[in-house]
Amino acid sequence: MTALRCNVADLLHHQAARRPVHLETDGTDFGAVGGTRLDADPLVIDVVIERVPDGVVVRGTVQGVMTADCSRCLRPITRSFTWNVNELFESHPLEGQTYQLEGEEIDLELPIRDTVLLGLPLMPLCTTDCAGVCPQCGIDRNETTCSCNNNPTDARWDALSALTFDD
Ligand SMILES: [Zn+2]
Repeated sequence: MTALRCNVADLLHHQAARRPVHLETDGTDFGAVGGTRLDADPLVIDVVIERVPDGVVVRGTVQGVMTADCSRCLRPITRSFTWNVNELFESHPLEGQTYQLEGEEIDLELPIRDTVLLGLPLMPLCTTDCAGVCPQCGIDRNETTCSCNNNPTDARWDALSALTFDD
């Protein structure tokens, strides 16, 4: 039994019944994608659980704080996020699309975990136009202009830009 398990018996017996649910849990339990992970700040889940013909729908938001190192300049990033949750729990779930209604209970852990893993950026950036670290001299180009700035692109990528692709 996890902290995010909810009994929905009251909803199952009334068509179109709905109930708001507010939960908080430790963000660090939710793993990491690459170097991006959730902060120890609580992960706050605000959803409405609603009875539908096939089971219950969970709609709302999950809010938290992520930390990472910028994938270009390696500076630490701390950023809050709000992601939407909109998931169906049913007795006979479709693999990868809906979640298991277990008798009169649902476990929000799996959909929240999926939402977090999909939401965390694979290549976090401190700013969208982060200039990154010079691949030649290692200087942080956000702070200073490096002596090799005449050729800011990494020569190792030249072969890639010369490639052409047929349809
Ligand atoms: Zn950066």
